[in-house]
Amino acid sequence: METTEKIVEAYVRYIKGWATIPNLRCAGQYEIDLLAIDPVSLDRYHIETSVSGSQNFSRLTTKAFDPELLKEKVQKAGQRRTLGFFLERKFGVPAVKAELAKYGFLDGEYRNVIVTWDWTPEAAAEAEKAGVALWSFQEIMREIAATIRHKRSYFTDDTLRTINLFVRALAAAEEKEEPAALVEPPASAAGGIQGGAAPFWVYRNWIHHRARLHRAECGYCRAGAGAQGATGNLTGEWKPFETLAEAEAFLAGLGYEDAGLCGICR
Ligand SMILES: [Zn+2]
Repeated sequence: METTEKIVEAYVRYIKGWATIPNLRCAGQYEIDLLAIDPVSLDRYHIETSVSGSQNFSRLTTKAFDPELLKEKVQKAGQRRTLGFFLERKFGVPAVKAELAKYGFLDGEYRNVIVTWDWTPEAAAEAEKAGVALWSFQEIMREIAATIRHKRSYFTDDTLRTINLFVRALAAAEEKEEPAALVEPPASAAGGIQGGAAPFWVYRNWIHHRARLHRAECGYCRAGAGAQGATGNLTGEWKPFETLAEAEAFLAGLGYEDAGLCGICR
């Protein structure tokens, strides 16, 4: 079982409070990542996780799914991130449906879910049409972190114990890492634009749902170099934009409550 699948199961069990059955083998080498049942509403879920290893930061797409390409090493990861892969190899397979039926998961009476790092707008539209819910792995991590951050209780679940440690370590590291523009800006901050860089940048913090729009020449942005000298880290990332309108649209699209223009370079 992949670590990410364990995290999703821990989330469903301990944060959602649902009953779970992980890793079901079906006829024909098919597998079900996770079944879950909400004991209150009795809603049923077939959950597949698309986040793994080096693909961690990739989005679900609507690129054509081709079983032949799935066999090619270089194409495999990309193919496994297509919506078509999930529809054809996970949700729509008769052997999978037969296994699901053994647990009382009857056609049309349960929900299909894909957990993924992110997705394209096309993938969101296609998934909705196909009746598949998309859950954000980033959101799941955030929700787990928010739930366990201030708890002093001891977790018997290994995955949650590990996440709990990670969340605490992250909180400590963040105090050093956080780009200056998201906290108190030092009076001496100054910087210059880097050659050929985009004129507008947005920094988003995934953990705290904060985002700021900067001009490239801003001392806290320095064309995305920020305070860390890199365009991404564990807690957030910089995104470049050619126009102010595009940057503002991205900012609004994040749906963060704490999102706006940098107080220094606006
Ligand atoms: Zn700024």
